[in-house]
Amino acid sequence: MVIEQDVPSTQDDEALLRSVGLRVTAPRLATLAALTARPHASADQLVADVRARLGSVSVQAVYDVLHALNSRGLVQHIEPAGHPARYERRHGDNHHHVVCRTCGAVGDVDCATGHAPCLIPSNDHGFTIDTAEVLYWGTCPSCRTAD
Ligand SMILES: [Zn+2]
Ligand SMILES: [Zn+2]
Ligand SMILES: [Zn+2]
Repeated sequence: MVIEQDVPSTQDDEALLRSVGLRVTAPRLATLAALTARPHASADQLVADVRARLGSVSVQAVYDVLHALNSRGLVQHIEPAGHPARYERRHGDNHHHVVCRTCGAVGDVDCATGHAPCLIPSNDHGFTIDTAEVLYWGTCPSCRTAD
């Protein structure tokens, strides 16, 4: 009997990297593990997390890893206006995000319909619409109580 794990093991991540034609390297594995532990991490947070796992790693090395993972579809990122880009492993399910205006905290919001585009524009200007990017802006519970 196979017990399903929510958290991918290092071996799973090695297989994942190979499945998309990427070499298995320590910075790539550490970045994937850091993103599992901290979804919606900024690049700065990832640099700190990867350094905590590996010791010294250059900022550029982590950006290179993110670029490689992004281009192979293993991670995606969102760019909330006024806040640094956030990276995550969850992708392909058309989920949306809630963002705190004050501190930039980000949470996942499942798409109500589950497939893109989940909103029908009142005027599509003749375009073929494939995606609706939904960001819910507001104030998170800890910022609200800080007032
Ligand atoms: Zn907040
Ligand atoms: Zn997300
Ligand atoms: Zn949706």
